[in-house]
Order: sequence, then C-alpha cells, then structure tokens
Amino acid sequence: MPIRYSYKEIKKMTRGFKEKLGEGGFGAVYKGKLRSGPFVAIKLLGKAKANGQEFISEVATIGRIHHANVVRLIGFCVEGSKRALIYEFMPNGSLDKYTFSKEKSASLTSEKMFEISLGVARGMAYLHEGCDMQILHFDIKPHNILLDENFIPKVSDFGLAKLYPLDNSNVSLTVARGTIGYMAPELFYQNIGAVSYKADVYSFGMLLMEMASQRRNMNPQAEHSSQLYFPYWIYDQLAAKENDEIEMESFDHEERSELAKKMFMTALWCIQLKPSDRPSMNKVVEMLQGDVASIEMPPKPSFYPNDVIQRDSNVESSGVNDSNNSDVTASFEEESTTNPSLKFSS
Ligand code: ADP
Ligand code: MG
Repeated sequence: MPIRYSYKEIKKMTRGFKEKLGEGGFGAVYKGKLRSGPFVAIKLLGKAKANGQEFISEVATIGRIHHANVVRLIGFCVEGSKRALIYEFMPNGSLDKYTFSKEKSASLTSEKMFEISLGVARGMAYLHEGCDMQILHFDIKPHNILLDENFIPKVSDFGLAKLYPLDNSNVSLTVARGTIGYMAPELFYQNIGAVSYKADVYSFGMLLMEMASQRRNMNPQAEHSSQLYFPYWIYDQLAAKENDEIEMESFDHEERSELAKKMFMTALWCIQLKPSDRPSMNKVVEMLQGDVASIEMPPKPSFYPNDVIQRDSNVESSGVNDSNNSDVTASFEEESTTNPSLKFSS
C-alpha cells in the first residue's frame, strides 16, 4: 500500500515546488526527494476527485500494481481539496525526448528502441491481462512512457485509466479521452466497435510505428502527399516488397532491418480500424519476440469508417469472400446502416 503524506511533507520534499518536471492535463509534476534518500516525481492533481475516500481507494488499487515495466506509485497526499501522487523518479524522462529528437545525443539505437517497445508491450499486457483488475490506460503516448537509469521503459500516468473487473471488457464511455494521434477511432466514431482494451492496443500501434520510423505518423510538411500519413506509406512499401528487405536510412544493417520490419508489421496490426482485427497485448509481445516471417501481412489500415464500408462493399460485390472477416464485416455493416452518419461522442 502506498504511503500517505501530509501536504507539509510534500512541500518539504519538493523544497517548495522548486523543480518542475513538466505539466500534463491533470496538473504539474515536480521533482522531490524522500527523507530516506530516493528521488520522486510528485504530481499535483489540479481537478481531482472531490471525494477523498474514493481517491484513496483508487490509490490503493493502483498501489497494488507491480511490474518491471509499470511506474511504481510510492505514496499519495489527500488534504482538504489537495491531492498528490508520488511516483518513483525516472531519470531519463519520457520517450518523446527520443522518438522525434533531432539531436544526436538524444537518439537511441534501433536495437534499444526495439527493446523499449517490447518492454512497453509487456507492461501493457500486464495491465490488461496480468493483474487481478483489468486496467485500461486510454492515454498511451510517448510522454507516458518513462525511462529509468538503464532505459528500461515504464508505463506511467494512470490519471486517465479507469479500473474495471476482468470479465467486463467492453466499457461504454461518455467522454472521449486520450490524445489525438494515438486515440483509437472507436473513441470518436460510434459505428466501429465497442470501446475496450483494444483502444490501448491501437495507441500502442501508433507509438510503435513512431518508434520504428523515428518520425511522426502524421507529417503535414511531407513533400509527397503519399507520405502525409506514414502508416499508409509504410504499408505500401511493405506490400510492394513483401519478400524483400525494406531499406531505410536508419535501418541499414540486415538484422536491424528485420527488427524494423517486425515493428512495422506488428504496428500495422495494432492500428487496424476494427478493434476485433487488432491483437491483444500478449499477442503483440509474442509477435515482437518471434520471427518476422511468422507475422502475416496485415490488411491495409484505414483511417475512417467510410474507407472500410467502401472496401468491404467492393469485396462483396466482386464476389470475393474473406472467410476470416465475413462475420465481423456483416455485423459492422448492419451497425453502419442503422447509424450511417459518423457520430462524435463528445
Ligand atoms: P503528460 O504525460 O501529458 O506529459 P504528466 O503530468 O503525466 O503529463 O507529466 C508531465 C511530465 O513530467 C512528463 O512528460 C515527464 O516528462 C515528467 N514526469 C512525469 N512523471 C515522471 C516521473 N515519474 N519521473 C520523471 N519525470 C516524470
Ligand atoms: Mg504522463
């Protein structure tokens, strides 16, 4: 169980909130030091749950989560309207510093990137299937992957996560959560499928894509329109050279090119529009650990439900029957005819 601290102690630990590490949607994060020695990151929650008891029971749940790839909650503070969470300090900061960095000093080798992605996948698999509660994160993004002194990745920030019992994996949401660019389409389009742990799988796919390419998925400054949305582009590359090695600047070495291909193929499966087409995080771990040759070529990912409607009806009218997907397609089309317009939930 995490330790409860008074607000006075928090102030002391941070030397009067002297060193700010960053600021997120839930409040500011400060560096602190425990009396016993270790550094901590203290997150002051701006608009936290009004009910102190509810907050404490949530803290207790999160405090039970222990995994090598999940940030450890050390303590908390509830005092009047003040709420704070105290986490172990991650000296190498968050992954966004390394994924898009232009500086050479901040770049990681592709082998290291691969290891980090595998660690993140393991942490997420644990949250989804490895602990007694299923924990859905809903805000997987580079900023929420922290790196310890050995660059071991830790999934952080359960500020947006909600806790659900394991056998109730379909959750209805009233508010759209997450971060644009990593958010699963079912969080804003209502006719794709139910919101579940597969929303996190999607976000992981977008993250994995960026880790493998070391660039943003969406690039409005792209020279060619075909490169505007990286996942489409890489898909075409992979499809064209299915039996070939892909060649990319950062993956010149043959082995590295294998790793990159594995990351891209896995990412493309994770960002499938329909949640049911995406793998579980345990499956993702298997894919990343296994041989790239055993990963099947995924269907081309699509951005909008319209794409799928189009693609699926083309498939039907041309008489081609994809036995794997026919069930899913049928129920999807049924849903989309009763609800043809795209609905934004919030
Ligand atoms: P966000 O995840 O949206 O960036 P957060 O409030 O979670 O917002 O965190 C803000 C920043 O503080 C992070 O991007 C990270 O750089 C830093 N940070 C958060 N937690 C820790 C930690 N445990 N150790 C070191 N730095 C941290
Ligand atoms: Mg965060």
